[in-house]
Amino acid sequence: MKIINLVIIILIVCSVNSLAQEIDIYKRPVQVERSHNFDVQHYRLKLTFDLDRKEFWGENKVTLNSLSDEFKECILDAKELVVTQVLNHLNVPLKFNQSDSKLIVYLSRAYSYKEEVIFTIKYHAKDPKKGFFFSDETPRNPKMISTDSFPNEARHWFPCYDYPNDKVTMELIATVQKPNKVLSNGRLVSITENKEDNSVTYHWHQDKPHSTYLSMVAIAPFTVIEDSLGSLPINYWVYEKDVEDARRIFKKTPYMIEFFNKLYGYEYPWAKYDQVETPTQGGGAEATSATILGQNVIYDKKADKDFSWERIIAHEIAHQWWGDLITLRTWSETWLNESFGTYSDYLYTRFDKGEEEGAFALLSKKNSYLREAHERYIRPIVFNRYESPGQNFDSHTYPKGACVLHMLRFILGDKPFFRTLRHFLHKHEFQPVDTHDFMIAVKESTGQNLDWFFEQFIYKPGHPEFEISYQWNENTKKVLLKVAQLQDFSLGIPVYKIPVIIGITTSKGKAAKKVWIKQKEEMFEFEVNEKPLMVRFDEGNYLLKEWTFDKKMDELLYQLKNDDVIGKMWAASELVKFKGDTLVAEELRERIQNDSFWAVRRSSLEALSEVEVDANIKLLKKVCKEKNSKVRTTALQILGDTKNSKYVSFFKERFQKENSYVAQAEALRSLGKCGDRSQISFLKKAANMGSPRNVIKRAADWALKELMKGS
Ligand SMILES: [Zn+2]
Repeated sequence: MKIINLVIIILIVCSVNSLAQEIDIYKRPVQVERSHNFDVQHYRLKLTFDLDRKEFWGENKVTLNSLSDEFKECILDAKELVVTQVLNHLNVPLKFNQSDSKLIVYLSRAYSYKEEVIFTIKYHAKDPKKGFFFSDETPRNPKMISTDSFPNEARHWFPCYDYPNDKVTMELIATVQKPNKVLSNGRLVSITENKEDNSVTYHWHQDKPHSTYLSMVAIAPFTVIEDSLGSLPINYWVYEKDVEDARRIFKKTPYMIEFFNKLYGYEYPWAKYDQVETPTQGGGAEATSATILGQNVIYDKKADKDFSWERIIAHEIAHQWWGDLITLRTWSETWLNESFGTYSDYLYTRFDKGEEEGAFALLSKKNSYLREAHERYIRPIVFNRYESPGQNFDSHTYPKGACVLHMLRFILGDKPFFRTLRHFLHKHEFQPVDTHDFMIAVKESTGQNLDWFFEQFIYKPGHPEFEISYQWNENTKKVLLKVAQLQDFSLGIPVYKIPVIIGITTSKGKAAKKVWIKQKEEMFEFEVNEKPLMVRFDEGNYLLKEWTFDKKMDELLYQLKNDDVIGKMWAASELVKFKGDTLVAEELRERIQNDSFWAVRRSSLEALSEVEVDANIKLLKKVCKEKNSKVRTTALQILGDTKNSKYVSFFKERFQKENSYVAQAEALRSLGKCGDRSQISFLKKAANMGSPRNVIKRAADWALKELMKGS
């Protein structure tokens, strides 16, 4: 559902440490799929509002079919809503009873299986705490209304069956005072002006079924920027002052939808696609055909390089298929929404920014999962223990599942993998699904039984931890590769069966061979005509794994220069073991200055900072001005760590000349580390500068504290 835009600290995790079980997630209660004795067909919602008093009045006409042979009472979810009347289809009042969280409607007779039941609930609410938000006007946003129905908060703004295993169509008819506008799910049927009171009524129709947690309404004096993809209307609902930035930020939306249309082999399913900014959302939420985004999505051009929401925009678009068209049946199955959404944002990055940025994006996802595995817990991806659904929206659900999909693609092959996705979407469109539906889709699309794969990576916790080494035998001309699996089997982690590609590079070129790992410890032999320059485990970086691979310095130096970007970054971090050897510093310096990919330059810089700093000040200063802001930031930080007051004027100059907020912030922190208290007024002045997420102010405040230490 939600994705929060955090600046991720990237670590190359290459050591095998024990996995954490800091939180005993097995103490959480077991949850089962909710049962229901009726099947809702349609909600027709009519809403009016008093924005000043933060009140609203609603009418929900519910159409449902009985799933029972004797259906007499209908129990709906309703929280913070005061129900005043329930009328049957003939407008005859029905008895009802309301508790804190439920509304029981007593029907006038017993209905039989599949019989249609219609009744209308009248209710009102005042400033709900959840689900439905009245926001005051601030310098950033106008007075407005927004919703967040995820995961079970729709019940805070309309009585409903609020669980994702039922799909419904909906209408929303909302009357507001001008100049407010109303956005909701589906197709805009009409806008009617009510001259008598200067109000306007919007009628929206979500005419294809979806789940209640995907319902939304947003009301504000928005400016609507119109865009399109062929006949598909695409609109951006933003505050008037944000129009210029919004045009730049959202401009790739049609291109992204077109990319996913082709990739999934399923045309975008809804009548339109809208994106709206709100003050009440942290990241993004994939309401059907109307994605809700936090207002931090809007930033100035300077912030593009460090605070881009492009990945989130792509991720939420992908949810229009993964989450909205097909929907998790229970909250144990969060990966069916989020891993597919997260894998999709990787696929978009790979498509739009190229292979190296794609590889880096996937590495970031792996590391994000590994951090959770080491610092918090491991769990199976499909997991039915939680107090609230939100607990399952973690780094197992988002990045781990995405990495698992990448492995599945590797095992199946590109065409069968995407054929499976297409089949899965078409077969289950507008339905709730679970993992078994996906496993069957794999079988139906490819003929392959991959139950063993799902058993290992979806239904069991953890990941493989490999210890790899090899020997070259000059006499037999063979490489003998030893692979051991060292994961902690007592935690329920299996001995993995998985294919892996071994890449062997000699002066004649590279040979790649796929082998199957099946045991705790195995040896593999490869005939090679000469001593290899480099032996690579998991060529292509398909596996979600941790590993150690003891290599000699010569091979690491070769790898740093010649491997793919992931291998280069790993080699840079491994070379720290050979600190003191002049060749190491020399090669790292060479990569810092000449590698074409920024993350390799940065990893080399980080490695160099552990090998030798003082001899490289001139280079560090040069790198503080290089083209990539992330590399510059790291260089500024390393130079700052020398805590040398002679760089004060350099850091001040960098702060003034930088065109990256994040690098500017680092320059201030480094200034603070220099210990020169005459810089206090400079830092105080800098603290007043506006910046996304206040990075400049926070850095200036940190630097001031650093300067005052010991006083
Ligand atoms: Zn998501």
